[in-house]
Order: sequence, then C-alpha cells, then structure tokens
Amino acid sequence: MSRFNGSQDVVQGARHSHYGQLIRDEDTDTVVCHVCGRAFRSLGAHVRVHRMTAAEYRQEFGLLRTKPLSARSLSQEQSRAHVAIYAASEEARGHLSAGQDMARSGELSRKRRDADRGRPDPPQLRQTQQDSLTAGRGTRASAADARLATALRAGGFGDLGQALHALYVTSQHSIDDTARALSIGRGRVRRLLAEHGIAIRSTGQNSAAGRRARALLNDRKAAQRVGTPDIASWLRERRKEGATFRELAKATGRSIPWVTARTGTCGPSRTQ
Ligand SMILES: [Zn+2]
Repeated sequence: MSRFNGSQDVVQGARHSHYGQLIRDEDTDTVVCHVCGRAFRSLGAHVRVHRMTAAEYRQEFGLLRTKPLSARSLSQEQSRAHVAIYAASEEARGHLSAGQDMARSGELSRKRRDADRGRPDPPQLRQTQQDSLTAGRGTRASAADARLATALRAGGFGDLGQALHALYVTSQHSIDDTARALSIGRGRVRRLLAEHGIAIRSTGQNSAAGRRARALLNDRKAAQRVGTPDIASWLRERRKEGATFRELAKATGRSIPWVTARTGTCGPSRTQ
C-alpha cells in the first residue's frame, strides 16, 4: 500500500477523499484522486500516473467496481452514449438480452457470488445503498416539489388547494389532465385531492362522454325543477322578461355560468 503514498505524488494542502468514498466536487463537476488529492473529470486514466490500473485503484480505496470513477456529467454523457449505442446496435441488444436472461435465471448472481467469494463488500457498497435510499428518495421528492411549485406559478394559482379546485372541480378536468397541468403524477393528484377534501369522481365521469352525459342530466334536472320541456327556451324567455342570471341560477339550481351558457348571452352586465 505504501507505494501509493509516495510523497512525490502528493499535492500539498489538497483535499483527500476518504476510504470507501468517491468525493465529487459538484461546483467544478470533478472527482478527487485519493492519492494526490487533485481533481479530475475522470480518474480512470489519471490513476496510471500512480502506477495503478482503475481496478487496482478501486480495490485500494474500497470503491465499487460497478461505479464510474468520473464526475457526474461525464458519467451521464457516457451513460447516454451507451444508451444510444444500445439503441443503434442489434448486437448490443443481443448481449443485453443474454445478460437479462442470465440475471433472470439467477446465473448472473451465481457468477458474481463465485467471483466475490472470500472478498468482503467494499465499504462504498454499504455507503451507496444507504445514500441511494435516503438521499435518492429526497432528491426525487424535492425535484417533484420544485416542478409542482413552477406549475402553480405558471398557472397563476395562489396555492395548491386553489389549483385543485380550479382544475378538477370548476373546470372538471380529469385526474390525468390535472396531473399534467400540475406536473405531478396521477397518484399524487389523488392523494392531494383526498387531503384537500375533494371527492374523486368515478371513472366514467372523467371522460368526454361522461361530461356530456352529466351536462344532459343537469339540463333535465333543471327543466324538471322549473317545469318546462325545453330549458334553453325557458331561460331565454325569462331573460327577456328581465330576470337576472343570479335569479335564473337560483330557480334552476344551477350556476351562473351554466345559465349564461344556455341563454347564449355572456357579459357582465346583468349578473345581479
Ligand atoms: Zn492522483
């Protein structure tokens, strides 16, 4: 081990990563070499100056063989490149499907257990599992919250409750459309509706056909209530006689927008 600690390799005052941990500097998008403390986009090529292969370096400093020795943006670039290669290459797909078969049948785990026999888990494994469970969960949640906040601002909503009422109740948007408008998942919309005491409509009511059927039903109910076969004509006649939208809404048990839609008149003039 001492050959990696040669003083000629060490930069005075540089930061040193801990054993079992790859230190990323998010500001400069680099990773820090355990040996010399200098920062690089990738350590894979650099560690050769310390007379080590990447594999030896990982083993020496307790790092996972499956984790890249590179800065996040470089890892992402590489992973995107791999996805592109995979998409372009029948052969790569063949390899992957063989790998997936091996994974499904448990052969991959067996091979890996055989290879790992007698070798303890690197400390980074425990660290990584812990990190991805806590930090990962947190990151996903806060990213979703940020998207929701942006969507609320973009929609001009004061708060979440107002947005849910406006979209789901007043505009009768479906759960899907409400979720899209708020940039959140459908499951979260359902939970939030429940939290805000808004009843979730049954599935049929969310479709266009469901909305039309409900509108017809409302028209029939209003017609029955005032005793007319044709609610639109009845409303127009009452308007000519001087009835206000508010009075007509009260008489039919519907809303003012419902009345204005059926009298074919809009405008703020006579809503009182
Ligand atoms: Zn170094």
